[in-house]
Amino acid sequence: MYKQVQTIMDLKTENAAIADESKFEYKRILTGDRPTGPLHLGHYAGSLKNRVRLQDKYETFILIADIQALTTNFEHPEKLKDNIFLVALDNLSAGIDPNLSTIVIQSMIPEISELTTFFSMLISINPLKHNPTIKTEAKERGYEELTYGFLGYPVSQTADIAVFKADLVPVGIDQLPHIELARKIIRKFNELYCGKLVEPYALIDKFPRLVGLDGNLKMSKSYGNAINLSDDYDSIKTKIRSALTDKNRIHPTDRGNPDICTIYSYHRAFSDENLIKETEYNCKNGKIGCVKCKDNLFEVIKKLLEPMNERRAYYLDNKDEIWDILLTGTAKAKAIASETIKEVKESMKMLYILP
Ligand code: ATP
Ligand code: MG
Repeated sequence: MYKQVQTIMDLKTENAAIADESKFEYKRILTGDRPTGPLHLGHYAGSLKNRVRLQDKYETFILIADIQALTTNFEHPEKLKDNIFLVALDNLSAGIDPNLSTIVIQSMIPEISELTTFFSMLISINPLKHNPTIKTEAKERGYEELTYGFLGYPVSQTADIAVFKADLVPVGIDQLPHIELARKIIRKFNELYCGKLVEPYALIDKFPRLVGLDGNLKMSKSYGNAINLSDDYDSIKTKIRSALTDKNRIHPTDRGNPDICTIYSYHRAFSDENLIKETEYNCKNGKIGCVKCKDNLFEVIKKLLEPMNERRAYYLDNKDEIWDILLTGTAKAKAIASETIKEVKESMKMLYILP
């Protein structure tokens, strides 16, 4: 973990795409989720938790990216409505305050698609093909042939950011190439058309990936190795009990290696310092069994989720409120987006006839 922080600091001096809060005052954040299913603890640790903290400091726009969900789930658009609701519910339960953050449904802002089309002229195919994030994701999903939409994913992300004039985009370090690409496209637009679009910066999330219950390097809904924020306590307990630990440890008195244990990595992510140290010591010295250690973790996760579940219960009793929040947020976003598109067309000398 510390090694990664070091890398980020090194990168900061070299990489113009990384935000430096000591030098600039940033104002508006664009972040979001693809509505492809329930959010899990990986999303929470890697993005939601930070998002909740940042909404106090920056004007926050959370995009529920239903069009981008189609890049991989185009066969099932009928699932989008339920998933949009779930993702909004997960965000609100996690502590997103609709008075501080604006939650937006992507497809209801056609200006984003319009801007995506304009931007798609400003980037050649090669940098998209060689974009490391696209490459990794394509490999993860076993895509041999990429669709035009999947390849253009970073272009539409650029439009998401630019349409709201966001200057900060919180991302994991692996998403940095996307932000670099976004800056390149926006810079080219501004240079070519004397535009005034905002070049965004990446706010790098220092949190390393949360591993899956099966020990896979990434907790992911597509791998079926996730604890969802919406899981009930009984299934969470069962999932934690099933998680991979140090395989060489058979008896509670065996000396273990916490560094290869999924449960210990969760302790590192969610438990307090004392419990982390205690767990490490007890595992290394054969003073705690894995079952007990797992139950300790369950209590930590339960405590983390309790306030979220209270909010979840409230919203489940008041489902209409969620749709109202989405409608209000989207209307606010739409006003900003149409203003941006007007400016974009003005720069491009495309406002042919004024209404
Ligand atoms: P999944 O991978 O679970 O199917 P997804 O494909 O919709 O979900 P990703 O694009 O993989 O989601 O992740 C969205 C963001 O959520 C990432 O940029 C990252 O910030 C965060 N995230 C997702 N999974 C993890 C994880 N296991 N650990 C840390 N952060 C994660
Ligand atoms: Mg994924």
